[in-house]
Amino acid sequence: MKNLAKELQHPIFRIVSETAGQMGVPCYVIGGFVRDLLLRRPCKDIDIVAVGDGVELARQTAARLNLPEQAVNVFKHYGTAMFRYENMEIEFVGARKESYSPDSRNPSVTAGTLEDDQFRRDFTINALAISLSEADYGTLLDPFQGLEDLQHKIIRTPLDPEKTFSDDPLRIMRAIRFASQLNFSIDMKTLEAIHTEAHRLEIVSKERIVAELNKILLSRKPSVGFTLMDLTGVLDLVLPWVSKLKGVESINNQGHKDNFYHTMEVVDKIAIVSDNLWLCWTALLHDIGKPQTKRYQPETGWTFHQHEAVGAKMVPKIFRALKMPLNEKMDYVKKLVYLHLRPIALVEDSVTDSAVRRLLFDAGDDIDDLMLLCEADITSKNQEKVKHLLRNFEHVRQKLKIIEEKDRIRNFQPPIDGLYIMQKYGLQPCKEVGMLKNTIREAILDGVIGNNFEEAYRLLETEAAKLGLKAVQ
Ligand code: ATP
Ligand code: MG
Repeated sequence: MKNLAKELQHPIFRIVSETAGQMGVPCYVIGGFVRDLLLRRPCKDIDIVAVGDGVELARQTAARLNLPEQAVNVFKHYGTAMFRYENMEIEFVGARKESYSPDSRNPSVTAGTLEDDQFRRDFTINALAISLSEADYGTLLDPFQGLEDLQHKIIRTPLDPEKTFSDDPLRIMRAIRFASQLNFSIDMKTLEAIHTEAHRLEIVSKERIVAELNKILLSRKPSVGFTLMDLTGVLDLVLPWVSKLKGVESINNQGHKDNFYHTMEVVDKIAIVSDNLWLCWTALLHDIGKPQTKRYQPETGWTFHQHEAVGAKMVPKIFRALKMPLNEKMDYVKKLVYLHLRPIALVEDSVTDSAVRRLLFDAGDDIDDLMLLCEADITSKNQEKVKHLLRNFEHVRQKLKIIEEKDRIRNFQPPIDGLYIMQKYGLQPCKEVGMLKNTIREAILDGVIGNNFEEAYRLLETEAAKLGLKAVQ
């Protein structure tokens, strides 16, 4: 039997072991930590199972570490306790047996053995345990050949997969998420059961589903997860908008890109250059307006006019449907979806400084992310075309840099604001104030005047005179 005592380097393991020894309670480290230890992946949480009172083991271990009593968070309802120690979250639970009813993913629970506890785990690779008891400290307990599955990179359920997924359909999302995070494949029977039980996802809260989607989006190659979601029918249920991107229509022998596969390429490219979750969401949703705007015209072929505007409008609806917060992150995604065609439109040499300044103004501090998105959006079967566009795209970057250095538009606040105009001309908020503000801003963006107070002031005087306004101070 494999012994991993040497690998258990964190000091907590010996301390838990001694405490449990004094209490006469066998205990084990189990689940994600063991999996990640064997995969040599970093892991921030440790799960300890005690065959006995897990909460009491947590309390006594914390006391031995001289942690104050309130450092231990007890979740009575779940019979678990948790504290933080040396950068790790350590969770304790008594070994348990579970049984499920059809309408809930929360089982009824009774005390059980270590094996009972391993049986309730979702995948063989998540059911591995290492003993912390003195007699066999470090021994790997692997009832379902989880180690072999780790070596063969396979996700498999320990029990009947249909029952496993029907009992707790969140496991469907977890299977796909692990496949994506670890670049594993899903065992055939397990995959079929995901397909059969996908409809059960309806009893899972949107928040839990989104938490898994986020992990898929942050994995090294998110398309692994999304392709599995597509294959099993999960995509249709969870992200119907993305599912609608699939397919190619052909008229007069003219087809268009499959927008789902294009989106997957973009999402994968963003995953390589950024770990900003919201940029990943933007990549996933950037073409979401395409199905609605698709038209075929004999002269021009397939078009998706205004898909960026239609897509941007869909963003809040999608966020709401997924119960994601409608906050500044949503605004960011919406804005970037709206602007995603703009940088590429600047590729031509004839583009004016004014167009570049406008893009800087509209994108503000998100310009760098927008450029990453737009660059990732350049995909084609024709590699020469891609190379050519990427070269030209580099020119856009240069142009942006030169103009930003010269004009400082990125966080641009016009040098004269509404309040100043109202005070100078003795006005209440009204249409004229808006018009004057607008004229100044547009003149600066167009390069008609410089971005400074003196020139803005002169323009204000001329424009106010045209409106018949007189200064009161
Ligand atoms: P990560 O921490 O990366 O999300 P993890 O596998 O550690 O992955 P946790 O949510 O921390 O996931 O759960 C710890 C362990 O609890 C898992 O490894 C697994 O053994 C078990 N587990 C978690 N969720 C479920 C579930 N829905 N069904 C069955 N077992 C589960
Ligand atoms: Mg974990």
